[in-house]
Amino acid sequence: MSIRILEEVCTLCGECVESCPFGAISLTEEKIEIAEDCNLCGACVEACPFEAIRITVERKEVDLTGYKHILVFAEQREGNLMGVALELVGKARELADELGVDVYAALLGEDVKGICPSLIGAGADKVFLACDPLLKDYRGEAYTKVMLDIILAVKPEIVLFGATNIGRALAPRIAARLKTGLTADCTGLSIGEEKELLQTRPAFGGNIMATIACSHTRPQMATVRPRVFKKPPLNSSRSGEIIVEKVSLKEEDLTTRILKIVKEAGQGPKIEEAEIIVSAGRGLSDPKNLRLVEDLASALGGAVGASRAIVDANWIDSHHQVGQTGKTVCPKLYIACGISGAVQHLVGMSSSDCIVAINKDPDAPIFGVAHYGIVGDCLEILPALTAKFKEKLGE
Ligand code: FAD
Repeated sequence: MSIRILEEVCTLCGECVESCPFGAISLTEEKIEIAEDCNLCGACVEACPFEAIRITVERKEVDLTGYKHILVFAEQREGNLMGVALELVGKARELADELGVDVYAALLGEDVKGICPSLIGAGADKVFLACDPLLKDYRGEAYTKVMLDIILAVKPEIVLFGATNIGRALAPRIAARLKTGLTADCTGLSIGEEKELLQTRPAFGGNIMATIACSHTRPQMATVRPRVFKKPPLNSSRSGEIIVEKVSLKEEDLTTRILKIVKEAGQGPKIEEAEIIVSAGRGLSDPKNLRLVEDLASALGGAVGASRAIVDANWIDSHHQVGQTGKTVCPKLYIACGISGAVQHLVGMSSSDCIVAINKDPDAPIFGVAHYGIVGDCLEILPALTAKFKEKLGE
């Protein structure tokens, strides 16, 4: 990147000198001078009333032809593979078949070789396995180094991560070091006409879906929320290769230490894992009516979800929030009670297998995605449903 002053436009007003947080701009009687150690923060570009300052980004041409295959970061915790890893391997398999390439998985941990068959059964052709005591739990520096070693050796054209706390921390570190793009929180992936990865995600507060392509650099990198894609069926007769990576990490090179892992205390089943979710919205009118949703969830053995409206109103903890700024869920049954169906809610639950909506407004957008709709007052319908389910389920 470089910065220059358009001298024919500059009036020497001095606004840029004031705006520079680093004191890197000086004004003489004749001209503006920018110090060599200017870090190109761009504050002066914003401040100049005459648009007389330009920062130019020179793009380095990268040879894209040497990159092939799709690599999935197979996240595990405490030796257990995260569901999102299998979901991504399944999706990667679909994309790879379209591109005519292979699916690779990178598995990092302490003693996690036993996980490899699941990755192969879900569609991976090769698993790059890095086992080391220093990889037991996620530490940014260690995981970044090992993942970078694998990526630089393999040169995949696409790298996918789950948009979990770990994936969201790791993927940007890697993208920054590779000087490539990263699309976070994708809700759709497909292959474009130029064989590029098309990465779709909500933008502008969820009001539009943006499809993003990384045309000039490789690898193309994306994070995808858990439960956006379905887990593929596991084929235990599939064969694949396990490639053991040499890990050269030293404790003294890592600046973080894990002193203790404290697990989040949750109330009831977690919505990300639940097969049945009964979700509450502002249509319940009063926090005390949440009990009706809890009763139905408990009769069905499900979890309680929520719209952001009632989380913001402090009716319920944010762990229950479904949607763009909450969790993405994909249960077998999702019952939306008094939820209007704003697009930011729908992106978090519309891939559920069966959606039932209860709303007194027959034109509520939630009915657009519901498989079954009940038009009516949820304060009356919920107790009736709970009683009927209890009767049928023999409680
Ligand atoms: P409302 O929109 O007020 O709908 C209440 C519904 O209840 C209405 O359809 C009404 O007809 C019905 N109703 C009323 N009384 C009854 C009754 N007695 N019986 C039956 N039905 C009844 N929202 C999310 O949910 N998740 C997110 O992650 C999220 N992220 C967001 C991110 C951004 C950047 C923005 C701008 C917004 C986000 N939102 C999110 C907010 C979203 O736009 C909506 O405001 C929110 O989902 C509305 O919640 P609601 O459906 O409970 O309430």
